[in-house]
Amino acid sequence: MGQRKAPKDGDRKVGRRALLIGGTAAAAGTALLARDELARLWWRTPGVEKPRKEGEVDFAGARWVAASDANWRRADRPDDFGIDMVIVHVTQGSFDSAVKAFQDPGHRAATHYIVRQDGHVTQMIRELDVAYHAGNRDYNERSVGIEHEGFVDRPQDLTDEMYEASARLTARICARYDIPVDREHIIGHVEVPGTDHTDPGPHWDWDRYMRLVRRARTSPA
Ligand SMILES: [Zn+2]
Repeated sequence: MGQRKAPKDGDRKVGRRALLIGGTAAAAGTALLARDELARLWWRTPGVEKPRKEGEVDFAGARWVAASDANWRRADRPDDFGIDMVIVHVTQGSFDSAVKAFQDPGHRAATHYIVRQDGHVTQMIRELDVAYHAGNRDYNERSVGIEHEGFVDRPQDLTDEMYEASARLTARICARYDIPVDREHIIGHVEVPGTDHTDPGPHWDWDRYMRLVRRARTSPA
């Protein structure tokens, strides 16, 4: 979510890794890719999907609250679409209003996770699925979206507990999909090409956040 901004040319430089993942497999006929492809081949069989259990979460400790299925698309990631990005949002409203919005089929948008100011994490869409949060189809398909409770113009909303919890969550996502912990792959909504949103805003402390993600990434799960 987040505040709108005046349209501008927001095209960011896409990293080499992102290009490889976004491009065709044939473009990178390496042994490494072949091994990955073989391991995942079974899931590519048409009609085969990973087993799902009602209420299951991808992040230990998260509470499950289902988003309306109008706000996401069923998929089989990371096999049909590779995941190489985490996108950071700020809600521009309370935690409860964000949960309500994502349950509303008319909202037409939702993230996978919402982090509350006290550090509580709610998951509303499985990482398997494509959440509509970036306002850009390609970026939706390749990312996991995380909302943070608060307003972009209120630095006091971005609490220690929220940074810590979100960093642990992002570190687990990066570990799961082998995403590099850098600013090419962990980005703000504002950095998505074509977006008119400004979140997470000028008060989001990227240096601090990335330091916390790196620390969580290297400590045992
Ligand atoms: Zn946003």
